[in-house]
Amino acid sequence: MTYIDCHIHVSDKFFFKRIDNLLLDWNEYNIEFIGAVATNLKDSQRNLEIAAKYPSIIVAGIGRHPWGAHKFTMEELTIFKGLAKKPEVRFIGEIGLDRYHIKEKNRWPIQEQVLDYFITIANENKKSIMLHQTGAEEELYEILSTRNLEVNFCCHWYSGSDKILKKLIDLGGFFSINPNFLRSRKHRRVLDLVDQHNLLTESDGPVKFQGEQGSPILIPFLCQEIAKELMIQPNNLAIIIKENYQRYLKN
Ligand SMILES: [Zn+2]
Repeated sequence: MTYIDCHIHVSDKFFFKRIDNLLLDWNEYNIEFIGAVATNLKDSQRNLEIAAKYPSIIVAGIGRHPWGAHKFTMEELTIFKGLAKKPEVRFIGEIGLDRYHIKEKNRWPIQEQVLDYFITIANENKKSIMLHQTGAEEELYEILSTRNLEVNFCCHWYSGSDKILKKLIDLGGFFSINPNFLRSRKHRRVLDLVDQHNLLTESDGPVKFQGEQGSPILIPFLCQEIAKELMIQPNNLAIIIKENYQRYLKN
């Protein structure tokens, strides 16, 4: 049985400085694919560096996280456009909107603008997108449904309303689950409402869950818990998640 961590910040210095050893450890836990998300240009370049060294395990993403969208520059946009053409770039993310952590309303239009740039880049290069939407689920839905998205999308750590979740499901979204679902009613609803063929698994490392370090070694346990919830065998779930991930990446 092998596992997928579709959303992890391996370019974060917490992991990056000892990535060679960590990948050996994670291999012991049968982690087959690591979806390396980026929060800025430096992360994006680091992801490509790691993927060049470990092409069979690292699935490299590039992007600008909504928390830093206000720092986005036109020079960056040009570099991102160039990077997105590379076949080594497998998806665009972590991109999106955040109105929960980012309270400054003057930054919200910039987030939308940056998201819009990345949607264009994703469409032009046929790369799937990995989305963050905390506190801005409805705004994200509005953009996705009107923007003619031509590629697959995954909402990571969804914790919005059921109403918007159902709309995002109707758009054909994938949804990645992390260990927070055990404690969050809203995140758990994703398991109740989303078809198992649209589910993915993630650690969002190095984010911590109730003091526990988020990292791919949590994924086998996470799969067990999800399988319990869905009342299926953990090994069947692992197979389904792997198929889902391959489908998500293909456009
Ligand atoms: Zn993340």
